[in-house]
Amino acid sequence: MTQGALNAVVVGAGPAGLMAAEVLSAHGVAVQVFDAMPSAGRKFLLAGRGGLNLTHSEPLDRFLTRLRPHSALLESQLRDFTPDKLRAWAEGLGVPTFVGSSGRVFPVDMKAAPLLRAWLHRLRAAGVVFHMRHRWLGWDGQGALRLAGPQGEVRVQAPAAVLALGGASWARLGSDGAWQPVLREAGVEVAPLVPANCGFDVAGGWTPHFASRFAGQPFKSVAIEVDGAVRKGEFVATATGVEGSLVYAVSARLRDQIATQGQAQFRLDLLPDRTPEKVLAEVSHPRGSRSLSSHLKGRLGLDGIKLGLLHELLAREAMHDPAQLARAIKSLPVNLASTRPIDEAISSAGGVAWPAMDDTLMLRACPGVWCAGEMLDWEAPTGGYLLTASMATGRAAAEGVWRYLQGL
Ligand SMILES: Cc1cc2nc3c(=O)[nH]c(=O)nc-3n(C[C@H](O)[C@H](O)[C@H](O)COP(=O)(O)OP(=O)(O)OC[C@H]3O[C@@H](n4cnc5c(N)ncnc54)[C@H](O)[C@@H]3O)c2cc1C
Repeated sequence: MTQGALNAVVVGAGPAGLMAAEVLSAHGVAVQVFDAMPSAGRKFLLAGRGGLNLTHSEPLDRFLTRLRPHSALLESQLRDFTPDKLRAWAEGLGVPTFVGSSGRVFPVDMKAAPLLRAWLHRLRAAGVVFHMRHRWLGWDGQGALRLAGPQGEVRVQAPAAVLALGGASWARLGSDGAWQPVLREAGVEVAPLVPANCGFDVAGGWTPHFASRFAGQPFKSVAIEVDGAVRKGEFVATATGVEGSLVYAVSARLRDQIATQGQAQFRLDLLPDRTPEKVLAEVSHPRGSRSLSSHLKGRLGLDGIKLGLLHELLAREAMHDPAQLARAIKSLPVNLASTRPIDEAISSAGGVAWPAMDDTLMLRACPGVWCAGEMLDWEAPTGGYLLTASMATGRAAAEGVWRYLQGL
């Protein structure tokens, strides 16, 4: 590293690390970025595949309630780097954004690649140096960073380093959580990484009949109730369980129930726009010679996967008892045995514990080392919260490094 000039290292070229590099470089710090993967921002690019949801337009106070567990530090970092500032930042990279009907904010072209390209171009032009295919392994006895590169292990001594190594989902894109034991060994408290915004396996699995007919199909316009809280939306049946936006929205509660009670349950309302009385009246309506299926389709529009699930989960007698059937249509218990593996999740919860860091995100156990992004102990639903908080913490860590370097 350059002697004399202010310099710093960032490990991890995801949105948190890139934001840290940008802020440091704007302060005139010489920044070197290391990443294990052959190219930067792989998960960011994947996030763009279904439409890059950069942030959310709801009022900031509401936005802040989405991040758990509550951290005063994370809150102040998001008050410094608000969703509006993130939108202005994207605009500054030539990527205007718009607010979708759900309040979520997307680039006008919905894509991540043009934004990432422009960002990396601007960083390189500002002098940020990238070293790809360099996996951080820990520190040597002198406090230098150990990095396994294409030419073998290199040691990098820097006065300040930001670790922005991500969580532990989609390991093939780089964030594999392998940093957990390294930091624990260094005396840093790390809450175990667990899946967030994840799918689940149903207890006992689906029958082969249900799985073969309905895996991959959506439950549209339904509502899920967990612990008395009801949400409307849609989700998908998988070969072994359920996944998709409505399930992700309640996944933290379900995951925690499984952790404490060994299993979890949600109640599914297959017809949230109809009252229980109306459903009972329609189910009880004399059906003459019509089959139960055509009766339910004709009177309630119930068919396909919704009808399939009733047959899957209800005993034959209950299917033919109007009161039980009507109750099930409005509140069908679905039992879950386990979360899907963390590698399949959208994000992870757990990570570097807040008390392990000072208010600039420097590790108390490792002076001169900061952490940022999804590797910190917070979680949030989908909706743009993950990227916003990752970038906000990247900025905060960089500001901490800057103040620290000036004091050296
Ligand atoms: C399918 C999918 C869709 C998503 N869509 C959205 C969305 O629309 N909106 C949203 O807000 N969020 C979304 N997310 C979540 C979002 O992408 C992440 O929360 C965000 O990328 C986290 O940023 P980060 O910089 O903390 O970590 P990451 O983006 O995971 O980056 C970490 C970097 O560190 C590197 N690294 C890890 N370990 C080492 C090591 N030992 N040595 C060197 N380098 C290492 C990795 O290679 C990686 O480049 C999505 C996630 C997924 C999986």
